[in-house]
Amino acid sequence: MTAATASHTPPDLVEGARLTVDGVELRVRVSGRRKRFALTVEPDAEVVLHVPAGRPFMDAERFVREHRTWLASKIALRVETMPLSPAKRLVEGEVFRYLGRTYRLAIDRNAPAGSAVRLVAGRLVITTEQAQNPAVGRAALIDWYCRAGQAWARGRLQPWAARLWVAEPAVGVSDLGGRWGTYNRGRKGDSASGLMSLGWPLFQLPMHLVDYVIAHELAHVRINGHGADYWRILRSALPECDERRGELNELGRRMWMGGIA
Ligand SMILES: [Zn+2]
Repeated sequence: MTAATASHTPPDLVEGARLTVDGVELRVRVSGRRKRFALTVEPDAEVVLHVPAGRPFMDAERFVREHRTWLASKIALRVETMPLSPAKRLVEGEVFRYLGRTYRLAIDRNAPAGSAVRLVAGRLVITTEQAQNPAVGRAALIDWYCRAGQAWARGRLQPWAARLWVAEPAVGVSDLGGRWGTYNRGRKGDSASGLMSLGWPLFQLPMHLVDYVIAHELAHVRINGHGADYWRILRSALPECDERRGELNELGRRMWMGGIA
């Protein structure tokens, strides 16, 4: 393609097409139901241009230019908060974190296949089978974080529940797909005070940040959403909640999320 054709033939707005407008790269998504253009910035900072069917490139270009300032600030924010989660290798000495402390991996060649991961004398011990099979090793380590995290969190709920004037919900630790915690109050009329779910990667963080997430979810027992009332309640129990939230965002994106190298 020559420079002349490149500058004179506007690209078609088809599903999956990649465009560049003033140096910003965009991926096109076409929807027949859509009436207007829209822009979204994905968590990995990719920019998606949502396009109504049958519109020319010129319209899209104008729309992107009109929203250039908004787009630039949104992209900057995404880049700043993008996950930096490192992958781990299942080898002797690899470093794992639990409640802010580091533990090195040890491979126990005598452990029977199918043994659960254990924390022994400051080392996280896995079996040869777990070390050699990434899927098995990953699942076994995540299972350990779930068990250890759940036992630790159970003992931590009571003081925070008391400070927030709420009844303790049940607590479970699992894979929440990148979220640190959720609270589900259950069906109307349930006598129990709902379920707090915590994501296993949370337990790599220092205790005061796990506490922040526990307090955050407990405040949701009293109030849904993140309006001014919500933050007032959380701040009354945890005055430094803003600093903790900032620290969680910053440190959190450096935690292991289950990737095996
Ligand atoms: Zn929340």
